[in-house]
Amino acid sequence: MKTLLSIIALSLALVTQSLGAQKYLQGATIIDGTGGPAIEDGVVVVDKGVLTCVGSREDCGVPDNAVIVDLRDRYITPGLVDAHVHFGQTGWLDGRPDGISAPDVYPYAKTAADAKANPGRWQQSYLCSGITAVFDVGGPFWTTQLRDSATSDPNSVHVKAAGPLISWAGRQQLQLDDEIYSFLPMGSVEQAVAGVAKLKSMGAQAVKVWYLAPAEEQRTGMDKRMLAVGAAASNANLPLLVHATSLREAKVALRAGAHMLVHSVSDQAVDQEFLDLLLQNNTVYAPTLVVGNGWTRALASVVLNASAPVDDPNGCVDQDTIEKIQQPQLLRSYLPDALNNAWAYQRLENDGRELVLMEQNLMAVHAVGGLIATATDAGNPMTLHGPAIHNEMEAMQRAGLSASQIITMSTRNGALAMQDENLFGTLRAGMSADLLVLKQDPREDIAAFRSLTHVMRAGQLHEQSALAWRTPK
Ligand SMILES: [Zn+2]
Repeated sequence: MKTLLSIIALSLALVTQSLGAQKYLQGATIIDGTGGPAIEDGVVVVDKGVLTCVGSREDCGVPDNAVIVDLRDRYITPGLVDAHVHFGQTGWLDGRPDGISAPDVYPYAKTAADAKANPGRWQQSYLCSGITAVFDVGGPFWTTQLRDSATSDPNSVHVKAAGPLISWAGRQQLQLDDEIYSFLPMGSVEQAVAGVAKLKSMGAQAVKVWYLAPAEEQRTGMDKRMLAVGAAASNANLPLLVHATSLREAKVALRAGAHMLVHSVSDQAVDQEFLDLLLQNNTVYAPTLVVGNGWTRALASVVLNASAPVDDPNGCVDQDTIEKIQQPQLLRSYLPDALNNAWAYQRLENDGRELVLMEQNLMAVHAVGGLIATATDAGNPMTLHGPAIHNEMEAMQRAGLSASQIITMSTRNGALAMQDENLFGTLRAGMSADLLVLKQDPREDIAAFRSLTHVMRAGQLHEQSALAWRTPK
């Protein structure tokens, strides 16, 4: 009898021994990220960090002496992509002194220095949550340097970063010097265009404009600068990313050639003109449904003096962050007068109204075939690097998208947002070996991504628990 196959159980120790050899992941249902039908009892072949075959046993021709990882009754998907994060922010209010400034408790210079010194902390939180690629869409200069070291490192996620934001509305509290969370000015067309050149010279991988709605009398001039930035970004061969949450400004961003709108339109329902512009440009729409409520929960926890619950199913949030969230009382004496109980309740109501609009707009974009990518805005208060992806995907499902659609939006479409679709985001030969192993079927309920058991990054299979910062409760 021919039983030469060495069946290796799902033990990290054994798998580690086989590093370097070809690995055959066998028996799982494979969902490849393209939106096509799943492969039952499939095989994924991994060699030197790259996928060399994804298909049936016949397709991939498993040899007798193959190193096999038995994944019967499991589900394999591509690694998740979070198309909107900020390495420079912490997930708590210490990273946003423009929200509450408490210099004696959390001196911002120290917060910023810590973030720069330890991007690996968020890297681990991402991998721990099944995220294998992130787009940092605005932050300090140093974030633009993360990509070089990350691409083939099994302990890092793929990174692209836009670096400093071009905006007419900078935040003084976030501007320590030219290195730390710089805002590049757009006081004139020339100045705005000079910002693009500066980003190009520092090696930024995108141009991000923080396009808050200008006052009515400033609109004409400001829109010209937005369009000029778009043209300059195109000339510099850099994708244009725009924060524009109001419909009017979002349309200006689309006319400027935006590659991605990094948030939902949330001030009113989108109209046909918006949808036409979005489709003409093939612009990526990143809904970021949960980040606003995260801000509310963070600020309300200080107002109400009660720490906000943390949704962290797999222990992916580091202890330091947990402790800050659990001590809102440290910030109480710094609360502006306007932030009181009445404010907190009002804000919760507003969040509810805004969410309904964002859900409707998401479904309107989806109905016309718009390109949607899952994105959290992680790093903002209570939008935690890593596990925020579950909240966001589940909010998309409540909005009316099917789990299968969300899987594609969270894998292939994220890679399209990062313009790295030939490197990751789908499972096929030649792609980086980045994939997830789940216990539950993610096509039935997107919450199945919480049942993550393994994360493969650049061919290295990590047990999920080995990536956790804490023991989950
Ligand atoms: Zn953001």
